[in-house]
Amino acid sequence: MNGYFDSAASMPVFPQALLKTLAKMRPGNPSSAHVLGNQARTIINNTRLQIADYVGCDSDQIYFTSGATEAANVLIQGYIAYLMRQSSARNEIIVSAIEHPAVFQTVYAMQNQGFVVRQIPCNKQGEILPESIEQLINARTAMVCVMAVNNETGAIQPVNDIAKLVKKIDSDVLFMCDAVQQFAKLDTKLDLQVIDAFFMSGHKIGADKGVGCFYLNDRFPILPLMHGGTQEQAYRPGTENVFGIALLGEALAENLRGRDSKIRQTRQLARHLIDRLKMLQVNHVRLVPEEKSSPFILSLAFPGVSSSSMMRDLATSGFYISQGSACSSHSMAPSRILSAMSLSDEIITSTIRISFSHSNTQEEVEQLAEQLAACCKLEVEI
Ligand code: PLP
Repeated sequence: MNGYFDSAASMPVFPQALLKTLAKMRPGNPSSAHVLGNQARTIINNTRLQIADYVGCDSDQIYFTSGATEAANVLIQGYIAYLMRQSSARNEIIVSAIEHPAVFQTVYAMQNQGFVVRQIPCNKQGEILPESIEQLINARTAMVCVMAVNNETGAIQPVNDIAKLVKKIDSDVLFMCDAVQQFAKLDTKLDLQVIDAFFMSGHKIGADKGVGCFYLNDRFPILPLMHGGTQEQAYRPGTENVFGIALLGEALAENLRGRDSKIRQTRQLARHLIDRLKMLQVNHVRLVPEEKSSPFILSLAFPGVSSSSMMRDLATSGFYISQGSACSSHSMAPSRILSAMSLSDEIITSTIRISFSHSNTQEEVEQLAEQLAACCKLEVEI
């Protein structure tokens, strides 16, 4: 029995993708001038072409990294360093209140360089509204950061509309999007006419941990954070993770194969779970309505039941979910994202994240519903 419902933290690796990747592997270093080196380089370049083809850009606009956090740092810190070297008057960054720490903390760290940070609020459903950005932009705005799908709530953000609005006001503002929970999974397309930079992470799409990539429009130069070789156009020096990159390409292909039916099936799993909870008379609140949510992430509150005890109890029965994002789930502080949504303490402290993948079944969902019902009953009796 598979009780893994935490795929937004790390999605199980696609077994087929792993087998295909293993079959491709040879010992060569992609920088070596011999045939084995060339084979490794070809694997990297083919994956780069594949990603560029999927997102609709030139392959030399895709850069591999160790994951999303590194990509966010390379982009944000790299662009700020460039602006500072140019003695630019642009010294403000606009960031949505619901960004992952990879972006949020990096942006706030830029205060040490004299940058001013302005936050875009969200509504009660965790959605950033384009109109709230207008009044934050001014002649000093350097960049705007808004994610495509929130990792805690699953709320889909109107990033293309927001980026369009930003560009209409000032086309020289860099618009950056964290596409980690959207890339390869949703059928929406990022509009690269208005989005200047985005990044993704391998382990969120069924590839491995420790690999990812970013896109950057050449109109916006960045300075490298690290120094060394010329790999990834010197923005990410060091020998590339050939295995991880190859697996990333295979996982992308797996996600895109029958994607519409994967989306439909996953949405069906979430509906089934909610139907079961209703049948079992479990009091719950869905934080983001289905039409505004990623089908892969379901954020549910169980008023009166603590999310941390629920997570613990579920784990003892072999069911794995999250309290908020995995990166912050060790912290006892209330979720910054749920707080930004102005929810009551009762909702904030009782919210869990259930996240699905291709590997979950209807039967597992039914068992999860039973376990959730048992946890709620236990908590109420105590
Ligand atoms: N952004 C989002 C939305 C995420 O969900 C995550 C992972 O939790 C990250 C960024 C960080 O990704 P990585 O683990 O590749 O650094």
